[in-house]
Amino acid sequence: MQDCIFCKIANGEIPAATIYEDEDFRVILDLGPASKGHALILPKAHYADVYEIPEELAGKAFALAARMAKKMTAALRCDGFNILQNNKEIAGQTVFHFHVHLIPRYEGDGVNLTWAQGTLTEEDKKTLLEKLGK
Ligand code: AMP
Ligand code: ZN
Repeated sequence: MQDCIFCKIANGEIPAATIYEDEDFRVILDLGPASKGHALILPKAHYADVYEIPEELAGKAFALAARMAKKMTAALRCDGFNILQNNKEIAGQTVFHFHVHLIPRYEGDGVNLTWAQGTLTEEDKKTLLEKLGK
């Protein structure tokens, strides 16, 4: 995909701080980290988001995220870990090449990924189950 910065980084055309690479993915340090060690899993093939990426590759990306979380937690001695993936502008996506955020968490790091909890009303539950229920 021409003019996609993550395509260029994933395929080595633009240098980036790489912490892991295999035939499908490159994992780089995020240039605007939420916390120390914030990294991104980039597939080498271009898919804009979770709606486009084949499920098998999405599965591989999550398996890699789990492996990276363990490796990074041991190396960085962080206290916890967020694995995050945004799709479309409304959900906070700013680079439209599928990627998975790996965010090490430390006591007192000030990272805020929380939201105000709503309530699942009986009415919402009924309509949602009509739309989504098996
Ligand atoms: P998202 O908002 O989920 O699309 O995440 C995009 C992420 O990519 C942000 O955390 C940015 O800091 C990061 N980012 C953007 N450009 C680069 C780059 N050239 N190298 C490394 N990280 C980048
Ligand atoms: Zn791309």
